[in-house]
Amino acid sequence: MKAAQDTQKPDLCPGLLDVESIRKDFPLLARKVHGKPLVYFDNGATSQKPQAVIDALKRYYTEENSNIHRGVHYLSELATSLYEEARKKLRRFVNARRLEEIVFVRGTTEAINLVAQSYGRKFLGAGDEIIVSAMEHHSNIVPWQMLCEQVGARLRVIPINHDGELLLDEFRRLLNQRTKFVSLTHVSNALGTVVPVKEVVKLAHAGGVPVLLDGAQAVPHLPVDVQEIDCDFYAFSGHKMFGPTGVGVLYGRAELLDKMPPYQGGGDMISLVTFEKTHYNVLPYKFEAGTPHIAGGIGLGAAVDYLAGLDWDQVAAHERDLLEYATQAITKIDGLRIIGTAQEKAGVISFVLDHVHAHDVGTILDQEGVAVRAGHHCAMPVMQRFGVPATTRASFAFYNTRAEIDVLVGALHRVLKVFG
Ligand code: PMP
Repeated sequence: MKAAQDTQKPDLCPGLLDVESIRKDFPLLARKVHGKPLVYFDNGATSQKPQAVIDALKRYYTEENSNIHRGVHYLSELATSLYEEARKKLRRFVNARRLEEIVFVRGTTEAINLVAQSYGRKFLGAGDEIIVSAMEHHSNIVPWQMLCEQVGARLRVIPINHDGELLLDEFRRLLNQRTKFVSLTHVSNALGTVVPVKEVVKLAHAGGVPVLLDGAQAVPHLPVDVQEIDCDFYAFSGHKMFGPTGVGVLYGRAELLDKMPPYQGGGDMISLVTFEKTHYNVLPYKFEAGTPHIAGGIGLGAAVDYLAGLDWDQVAAHERDLLEYATQAITKIDGLRIIGTAQEKAGVISFVLDHVHAHDVGTILDQEGVAVRAGHHCAMPVMQRFGVPATTRASFAFYNTRAEIDVLVGALHRVLKVFG
């Protein structure tokens, strides 16, 4: 039955994933832009949301809204239990050992700043070194530069090759007695490169160095198991994994989180306050000052439930198919060069077109209903590494199709006509 459906719909990818019915779960995908069906290839910036997440947000504000923790009334207890239930879902999602290792934050950016300011200011000092890579998002560069200025530490950078792959030998060379922290992306947003994080962690741990992984672009594409990877911190954003904006997670090894001072002071992160001395709350609340994004946390839990309902072997096969199909089709275009050709890649294609600025490409594609990102993708050092001012980036999710890639290719031919 399934095979028959696939042959009737040659425009959809030939994998087993039932993309057609998945697309129905995402209402926004059905809309038009400039009178054309939307082709949404800006998933790296933010993903669309399934109805289940939208419903969870609506239900929360319609029926469940109340502030959490400390409340004695029904609604407060209800909201608290829903929020804490979401934390449990996120623990399972990344396979953390303990619930208190899941800290709700605003997103990847806040998670990295939290670790830099809390762990970094306590445990790093003058002359210490922090290692990042040449393919980091600004949010995994700037917090470390700020820390370096504050404590007199030094930032070291692992170079990448021309395909956009991490040079592991260079990493080995950079690791030394002064290395006190390693912070790397799991999947590059600008290049799509999947970094061999298990190997990286093993190398760093051999020298007793903790590792943070920026998982913002990994969680929408790969199953992540923090115990298997053995990283010390893992940061990700809800909005890139089909959940709400303004909420994300910092996973941290409990032994490390325990030793770290609070990042912000305020309500909820304390157990006792007097003017003489304040006692901090237990994990994870020590790091969750103030009223959090309650609806966001619950909505993110709904996104986790949605993702748990998918077959991830099928998702991986489908996304691989999209990437291969798009790579083949796009490389045939005259004057087009793909930036980021790593062996291990997630569904991201960054490219430059001879004599046409990425913003002009993006604007013409938009007229055809195709949403892509054009610019430096908050990864200016990547642009510098490849000697380009900007790229156009098409980033895929499991709800995208081959037919949409055909629309992109057609629209790129239009760009060539306009600028030809
Ligand atoms: N790291 C990577 C690799 C990203 O792609 C992004 C978002 N583009 C971030 C960090 C920052 O995420 P957020 O803005 O959700 O904090």
